[in-house]
Amino acid sequence: MAVPQNKVTRSRRNMRRSHDSLVAANPNECPSCGELKRPHHVCPSCGSYNDREVVAMVDEAVFDDEDAA
Ligand SMILES: [Zn+2]
Repeated sequence: MAVPQNKVTRSRRNMRRSHDSLVAANPNECPSCGELKRPHHVCPSCGSYNDREVVAMVDEAVFDDEDAA
């Protein structure tokens, strides 16, 4: 098994970890429905992108699983 040749000092370990922190999301307001959405992503609540609907939204999904069970 590979073994580290030298001890990583607290300073060097902490310098390595200085880039590990998570950055908070930066949500934008959807121009068509006003809901918060991720930038450069399709709005999850109205399915629009660039002021046009690209994903059809349905109120309730209907599945034909009655015969399968
Ligand atoms: Zn929207």
